Amino acid sequence: MKTKRLLRALALLLVLTTIALCFTSCFEESSSQTNSNETTTTAKKENSKKHNSNNNSSSSKSDECANSTCSYKTDSNSNYCSVCNCQVTGCKNVKSSNGLYCIEHTCVKDGCTFEKYNNSDYCILCKCLDNDCKNAPIENGNYCLEHTCAVTNCTNRTTFESGSKYCIGHSCLACSNIRVANGFYCKNHTCIASGCKGQKSYNSNYCPIHKY
Ligand SMILES: [Zn+2]
Ligand SMILES: [Zn+2]
Ligand SMILES: [Zn+2]
Ligand SMILES: [Zn+2]
Ligand SMILES: [Zn+2]
Ligand SMILES: [Zn+2]
Ligand SMILES: [Zn+2]
Repeated sequence: MKTKRLLRALALLLVLTTIALCFTSCFEESSSQTNSNETTTTAKKENSKKHNSNNNSSSSKSDECANSTCSYKTDSNSNYCSVCNCQVTGCKNVKSSNGLYCIEHTCVKDGCTFEKYNNSDYCILCKCLDNDCKNAPIENGNYCLEHTCAVTNCTNRTTFESGSKYCIGHSCLACSNIRVANGFYCKNHTCIASGCKGQKSYNSNYCPIHKY
């Protein structure tokens, strides 16, 4: 009985020692692994630092397009590639998302994506349609205020060359004043006979028909 107990005690001691030894060695192993991991991370950091400084020394900026969703190479003088850059020669801005030009060079009319015309804020189709006029057209019209007939609700072009504020349909045929209603001449040039639309004769208030 005594020996059996002693043997059991010895066996227990052996087991405990084994566990203790195993635990210590495991711990040592794992801690040495952590150390080696740290060394690797540090080495990586140093590598990436070197990489960055290499880039910096070769050129002042990256040659990849500045548009974060684009990976094309940039053109010589721009931060953007030829696809992302505004299509106006010499412009270095990024083009707007729905057109070919940057905000600065895109027609200001809502929804229009065409290029601004010369020094106009509008493209050639959205600006006043008068030849080289750069003004904005009036609402619901094709011409600017200066080139739109002065008659309310008339959006025709003025006969500006003849100095009239009115369109060809509202301008007196003999001068630049407004025509009388349903007539062809202004008040000064229309025969005063009731209902007559004819032009006054020279030195008379009447047309040739009503003169005598
Ligand atoms: Zn790009
Ligand atoms: Zn531009
Ligand atoms: Zn436009
Ligand atoms: Zn105009
Ligand atoms: Zn008119
Ligand atoms: Zn007249
Ligand atoms: Zn008359």
